[in-house]
Amino acid sequence: THFGYQTVREQDKAAKVREVFSSVAQKYDVMNDLMSLGLHRAWKAFAIAQSGVRPGQRVLDVAGGTGDLARAFAKRVAPDGNSSNQDAGAGRDGSAGKTGQVWLTDINGAMLGAGRDRLLDDGLDVPAVQCNAEHLPFPDSYFDLVTVAFGLRNMTHKDAALTEMWRVIKPGGRLLVLEFSKVWAPLKAPYDLYSFNLLPWLGKQVADDDASYRYLAESIRMHPDQDSLKNMMQDAGFDRVDYFNLAAGVVALHRGFKY
Ligand code: SAM
Repeated sequence: THFGYQTVREQDKAAKVREVFSSVAQKYDVMNDLMSLGLHRAWKAFAIAQSGVRPGQRVLDVAGGTGDLARAFAKRVAPDGNSSNQDAGAGRDGSAGKTGQVWLTDINGAMLGAGRDRLLDDGLDVPAVQCNAEHLPFPDSYFDLVTVAFGLRNMTHKDAALTEMWRVIKPGGRLLVLEFSKVWAPLKAPYDLYSFNLLPWLGKQVADDDASYRYLAESIRMHPDQDSLKNMMQDAGFDRVDYFNLAAGVVALHRGFKY
C-alpha cells in the first residue's frame, strides 16, 4: 500500500502513521492553526453545523485526535453537562432520559491523551477509547452521528473503516467525513508550492519534524478525490451521499445516511 508517496507493506502502514502522530501530538493544535491560518476551525464549524446534532443524541468521533469535534458535540448533546457518560461514570443522579453521549476515539495513545486532557481541562467528561477505526468496539446501530475529520486519509483499509462506521450508525443516522480533497485545478500549482515547501519548513520550525508534514502533503495527493470518496461511501452502504467543497476543494465534507 502507500504511505505518502512511498510504497510500504500493508502491515507496516499503521505503525508508520503511528510514528507521525506520536511525533506531532504535542504541537498538533498549534500546527493546525499555523498551517491553515486558522481555517481548520471554520471547516470544523461547518461540519458541526451540518451535523444537525441535538441534545440526547449519541455521537462517535473516529480518529478524533485532540478532540476539536468531540468537544463541540459534547456541548451540544448535553448542553447542561448531564450526559449519560457523566452519569454512568460518577453514578451521580441516575437521571433517566438523558442519553446524550460523545465518544472520542483514536488509534494513537499520544493524540488521544492530548485530546482527553484538553476535554478534561474544559470540564468535559468524555470517554476516550483507543481503537482502530477498522475494528470499532461498539455495537451495531448505536450512534446517531459518526464523524471522522482528517483521519480517513491515514487508514490502511478505508473501505473496512467506512463499513465499520456504517455498522455502528443507527438507521436514520449519518456519517460526516471531513478530509483534504482535490483542489480546483487553477489553484493546484500554488497549492503544491505551499504544500511541498512551506509546510515541511513550518513543521521543522515548530514541531522539529519536517518528514511528518511532507507525509501530510503526500498523503493528501494519494487520497481519493471527491467523487471517488462518494463512491466508496456508497459501496460501504451509505445512502444520499453528497459533499461540499470548502476552500476550493482543499477540503471536502462528505455526508451519507444509513437507512
Ligand atoms: N480528528 C482530529 C482533527 O480533526 O483535528 C485529528 C485528525 S489527525 C490529522 C488524524 C488522526 O487519525 C490521528 O490522531 C491518527 O492517530 C488517527 N488515525 C490514523 N489511523 C487511524 C485508524 N486506523 N483508526 C483510528 N484513528 C486513526
